Amino acid sequence: SFHKSKGQHILKNPLLVDSIVQKSGIKSTDVVLEIGPGTGNLTKKLLEAGKMVVAIELDPRMVLELQRRFQGTPFSNRLKVIQGDVLKTDLPYFDICVANIPYQISSPLTFKLLNHPTSFRCAIIMFQREFAMRLVAKPGDTLYCRLSVNTQLYARVSHLLKVGKNNFRPPPKVDSSVVRIEPRKPRPQVNPKEWDGFIRICFIRKNKTLGSIFRIKNVLSMLEKNYKTLQALQQSQNGSSGSTDVEMDISGLGDSEDQRMDMDDGIDDEMEVEDGDADGEASEFKQKVLAVLKERDYYEKRSSKLSQEEFLHLLAQFNRAGIHFS
Ligand code: SAM
Repeated sequence: SFHKSKGQHILKNPLLVDSIVQKSGIKSTDVVLEIGPGTGNLTKKLLEAGKMVVAIELDPRMVLELQRRFQGTPFSNRLKVIQGDVLKTDLPYFDICVANIPYQISSPLTFKLLNHPTSFRCAIIMFQREFAMRLVAKPGDTLYCRLSVNTQLYARVSHLLKVGKNNFRPPPKVDSSVVRIEPRKPRPQVNPKEWDGFIRICFIRKNKTLGSIFRIKNVLSMLEKNYKTLQALQQSQNGSSGSTDVEMDISGLGDSEDQRMDMDDGIDDEMEVEDGDADGEASEFKQKVLAVLKERDYYEKRSSKLSQEEFLHLLAQFNRAGIHFS
């Protein structure tokens, strides 16, 4: 009996398992990380392809079943099973990750992998179709969103395989896709808190112009508060080069949870009130913000169409003007 709550949908189509393993490009020298091995259908093929498999499985019954399956076979000394929640486990060294995961951990797991300190070659992961399409979406695609931008900052992401629900037992409610996530090397040097604060604001309404987003009263007042705090800090330090990490409260800006699927909704309309002044008589700070946006026509652009490079450039321009997001 399978646990729905643990997302236990077992891959039952051997051809599909072959195809996933083949597309992964596992080398015979690779240490493979598998997350949620379940009964071991994928594990077996990973053991055939790689040098060693480290599998992290939450359900103790599955851990037992897995160990029983490979006991007394030549595979047993090349398989290491760790019982536990992958989100709470320190990841071991691995060259490549291949996994059919429970979909409820998609987002935190993706970011856990992307923040993994030792760099691995790539991760081949089965996701719910919609989540997969958001991961790979490009500027201008309907599904391009905060999740796309945040993932693609640290990785190249590509769609490998569409997988229908009937390849699983029991079949899940939704279709799936296998995606390849390849960490960018070298890792882009951005301040993660700055980036996150900035991207959250840009995607408050992804189809509005940046000009109108950065005229929203709450956005401006938050940025100004932050600006003043930083200035005061710098004055008090008077030239000493201390850290300028100041926490800004962005909890009012929509979802503070992980990258939810419907992350573009869920903010109060009241926070979208634009600052009343015409630009001519706008506050000094507002003019400062708008000047940055107008420098390269960002003012008229929309986040739904902005590339990775443009986001990075705009953030750098804001920071140069002393405007910070964290
Ligand atoms: N890999 C197997 C296959 O393809 O047939 C099973 C995949 S099934 C979708 C997901 C597996 O992940 C289940 O065995 C489940 O017990 C396990 N699992 C669920 N949550 C987990 C977590 N937080 N950490 C590690 N494993 C988890």
